[in-house]
Amino acid sequence: MSNENIEIKSAAVISTGDELVQGRTVDTNSSYIADKLLSTGLEVTSVITVGDYPERIAWAWRDSLANADVVISTGGLGPTADDLTTETLSGVAGVEAELDEEQAQRIRDIFATMGRSMPENNLRQALIPVGGVVIPNQLGTAPGYRLTIPTGDRRPTAIVLPGVPREMMPMLEETVLPWIVSQRSDKRRYFARTFQTFGLSESALDESLAGLVDESEGRLSFRASFPQISARVMVLGETGEAESRLDKLSAKVRGRLGGAIFAEGNTTMEATVGRLLAADGRTLATAESCTGGLVGARLTDVPGSSHYYMGGLVAYSNDVKEKVLGVSPTTLAMFGAVSEETACEMAAGVRRMIGADIGVATTGVAGPGGGSDDKPVGTVAVAISAADIPSGAVATMYQLRGTREWIKTLASQVALDWIRRHLLGLDPLELQFGRRVGRGR
Ligand code: AMP
Ligand code: MG
Repeated sequence: MSNENIEIKSAAVISTGDELVQGRTVDTNSSYIADKLLSTGLEVTSVITVGDYPERIAWAWRDSLANADVVISTGGLGPTADDLTTETLSGVAGVEAELDEEQAQRIRDIFATMGRSMPENNLRQALIPVGGVVIPNQLGTAPGYRLTIPTGDRRPTAIVLPGVPREMMPMLEETVLPWIVSQRSDKRRYFARTFQTFGLSESALDESLAGLVDESEGRLSFRASFPQISARVMVLGETGEAESRLDKLSAKVRGRLGGAIFAEGNTTMEATVGRLLAADGRTLATAESCTGGLVGARLTDVPGSSHYYMGGLVAYSNDVKEKVLGVSPTTLAMFGAVSEETACEMAAGVRRMIGADIGVATTGVAGPGGGSDDKPVGTVAVAISAADIPSGAVATMYQLRGTREWIKTLASQVALDWIRRHLLGLDPLELQFGRRVGRGR
């Protein structure tokens, strides 16, 4: 081990591979690395993606090394002729790449264990630039390495990792991040908390949280991943002090957003509903028309859902609504299939039929055809039935916008959110990217 002492204040990322610039593979490595670096307190200054061309790879390295103290690269470490990272980086650093005997033997051993003969070009993966320190790869043949490249009065470090995500990730976490942390005298890190919200538009969310986070305290960012929007609060500081600052800011966010927050952390609405049902020991049944089983599918995406989700029915035709769920022909004739009245009878019907504590129902016009002046595309009624609802069931009508797929997804989200709100004793949702047209009855 060399006795370096490098102050790392900035980081850059390089992703190498034709498949990345040609759009065949999504560059997940750089976002993964950027997120991990952030947690150590380092913000990534640039991410450069280049194809497998020596001059482009060399440009990416020169540019990144000139602008950042540490540059993390993935890809281009395979055994084939288009894997050019080591060769190119050696050229940029002005050093030779030499065979690392220990790594060469390890690669031979891997092939021997598999009972396969090793193509000679596989040994290219054991080439390490002189001065490089090996970063072990427990899961694949290509080792990584780090190489400090003195340029003038700066000593930026190149960190080279293989492109295969499952090999790269543990190498980053077990070797690279601890090394970076050990090199930094600044012990501040980023601490973050994510709030998942539903019902507010991104601009409304921004407005509700305006002025909440002072720039000196932390940062607030939003991310829309339809149909939910997350708000993330981030603070920079040392353990303890920064964590309590984050707690205070989080309390303020909760105060401002209230019931619009359905979870904290990386959670879905269906997981939240599942957790609440399980905690309450209550069971659920679904009757779905316009969502075609999407609510049930989402509920069963959650492991352990059999504890609370009993089952459901896709009641698409009026016949099924009437004959299987027991919706009255008079209701269907008077109010139509897409109405609060029909939704209520569907929810109550499925609850009775299945014997669940809670029944939920959706019925609507998903489009693109089938709309009328009275009930345009996107009109969706959602109902919930439970023993603690005095009238047996309540429904709300929404006017949703979007394509057929969006309307179905939104309707399933509204239905799930309503179960959540019911379990928490909250009012039904006021959707901001769709109008709530019914009053609930
Ligand atoms: P390589 O180390 O260039 O041979 O990359 C091996 C494989 O890892 C490629 O075929 C891709 O499937 C995958 N890969 C490489 N770079 C990335 C990246 N930035 N994000 C996600 N996958 C990647
Ligand atoms: Mg490649």
